[in-house]
Amino acid sequence: MTTQIPVLEKIHSANDRIAAANRAILDGAGAYSLNFMASPGAGKTSLVEQTVTRLKGHARVGMINGDIATSLDAERAQNAGAAAVQINTGGDCHLDAVMLSSALNELDLTRIDLLIVENVGNLICPANWVLGTHKNVLIASVPEGADKPYKYPGIYRGVDVLIINKIDLLPYVPFDMEYFKRGVEILNPGVQTFALSCRTGEGIDAWIDWLTEQIATV
Ligand code: MG
Ligand code: ZN
Repeated sequence: MTTQIPVLEKIHSANDRIAAANRAILDGAGAYSLNFMASPGAGKTSLVEQTVTRLKGHARVGMINGDIATSLDAERAQNAGAAAVQINTGGDCHLDAVMLSSALNELDLTRIDLLIVENVGNLICPANWVLGTHKNVLIASVPEGADKPYKYPGIYRGVDVLIINKIDLLPYVPFDMEYFKRGVEILNPGVQTFALSCRTGEGIDAWIDWLTEQIATV
């Protein structure tokens, strides 16, 4: 038990060094990058599809998809028009900087303006592993319920951007938006937030406008 904490610290500081190297590679290639985190089914891949489609002709999008077993999501991104690479984690429940590093080698980053990394669907450990992306994005969705910031504070605390997806379902499911936003505000005051629906397209414009400005910064 006494050695456990130093070992974890070593693993995390090694991860942080590789994450910094990943960032340098992305900056060098002029590729702005996002780490999409969410629970399974919140709409990570749907937001990738919407983003690729809306940015067509304006920005070239790449996608790296982390999944436990399949490449279904990478195929969806590819069909939408992204250059996509699949990482099968072999059961691991999060991506780390080493996995991203090897996936970066498989893309021609000089031909990519925006790289979206879709993390494994999980609200717990992805928050503990920086990848080297420019921003961490958490996608929450209305059917998951408004209590998630209270139950998973770690991931809400650490993100740069919060997406509230599936707002088209607000009339049909109990979701107390005020309670949800109060929980977020305690953990991550003033976090950049977009409420949208990947299904109806409502709210997507604001996300794309913000993203277009961000891409221009790299
Ligand atoms: Mg997905
Ligand atoms: Zn994990």
